[in-house]
Amino acid sequence: MKLHEYQAKEYFARYGLPVQTGVVIDRAEQIAGLALRYPVVIKAQVLVGGRGKAGGVQLAATPEDAQERARVILGMDIKGERVARVLVAEAADIEREYYLAFVTDRAAGRVAAIASGEGGVEIEAVARTAPDKLVRAEADPFLGFPAYQARVVGRRLGFAGSVLEEFVRIATALYRLYWTEDADLAEINPLALVGGRLLCVDAKLVLDDNALYRHAEAPPSEELTQLEAAARRAGLAYVELDGDIAVIGNGAGLVMSTLDLLAHFGGRAANFLDVGGGASAEAMQTALGIVQQKPGVRAVFINIFGGITRCDDVARGIVENPPKVPASIRLTGTNEAQGQQILKDAGIAAGLDPDEGARVAVELARRGAQAREAR
Ligand code: GDP
Ligand code: MN
Repeated sequence: MKLHEYQAKEYFARYGLPVQTGVVIDRAEQIAGLALRYPVVIKAQVLVGGRGKAGGVQLAATPEDAQERARVILGMDIKGERVARVLVAEAADIEREYYLAFVTDRAAGRVAAIASGEGGVEIEAVARTAPDKLVRAEADPFLGFPAYQARVVGRRLGFAGSVLEEFVRIATALYRLYWTEDADLAEINPLALVGGRLLCVDAKLVLDDNALYRHAEAPPSEELTQLEAAARRAGLAYVELDGDIAVIGNGAGLVMSTLDLLAHFGGRAANFLDVGGGASAEAMQTALGIVQQKPGVRAVFINIFGGITRCDDVARGIVENPPKVPASIRLTGTNEAQGQQILKDAGIAAGLDPDEGARVAVELARRGAQAREAR
């Protein structure tokens, strides 16, 4: 789970890492009421990187200037993500930019520190053009990342004296944060030299989704759409795509092949929802509610192969919450006859063949599109 810079900096502050004083706002007018020392830096809070290059990081000398720039940034779309909030922070007078991160190095099976004297630019670019400028050090799973190791890294970046000791404090604290919070990535880019001291000007933190259950205090994920979040709460696997046919299936393999079938007949899925094995009537009802809410859905294709999942349960779910858009239903397997009967009694048609089901779904969506054009 990716966190916003301002959220990452809240973690940083808690672990004693030096960050600028700043406030998050969602309206440019709020600038006037902020007690900040000028100049300030205004930063788009989006989950994508490279905000600086996209114009999402701007310096402002006065409150008027800041308000104007905040207004511009709040109207931006950065790599497809709308800017809803900006961080306004006291600007740093940067002398030099460095890079420091802890990452999970899967190949090595270790947590690794990556550092560089070439900060502020994409580390991937440094890795490509000047790999010798990267300093790498592996943390020992039992010893962690002790000060003596951080000191070796710091010396290789050219630090000495009190700045070196400050680097050691920062690197060991960043490792502690990474380890304690079950992060996948903890990155400072740039780690800046400001008035002879080090400051975390940017902060990036990615938490391991699989460990989130151990961190109830972690902020809710903002990576998911509303529907994806609703599905996750209901324990259903849901993914958004950009076609116009909503898909419900049971089992990842069946759902994948359902997408292929739709494509084969010239259709495109709007989303897909895997109700999983042993899906109850209730899960089916919830699933139908979620997939049809996606804007632009013209048809729904329900493709269920009953195994542990029973067709009668699925049918009951469908009858409880009948599709609001034209639906193609394929229902076969365990308790097939009962399931088909329940649908029939409710006046809902269903077939047994997946190819035919997909073909019909594509046809229904096409008719929906034509009807819309005719209007
Ligand atoms: P990113 O582009 O998304 O990585 O956003 P950053 O927070 O790293 O900002 C991009 C660049 O803007 C940094 O590398 C700095 O050069 C510059 N920048 C950000 N904050 C400040 C600041 O407080 N003062 C100055 N002088 N430059 C800043
Ligand atoms: Mn950055």
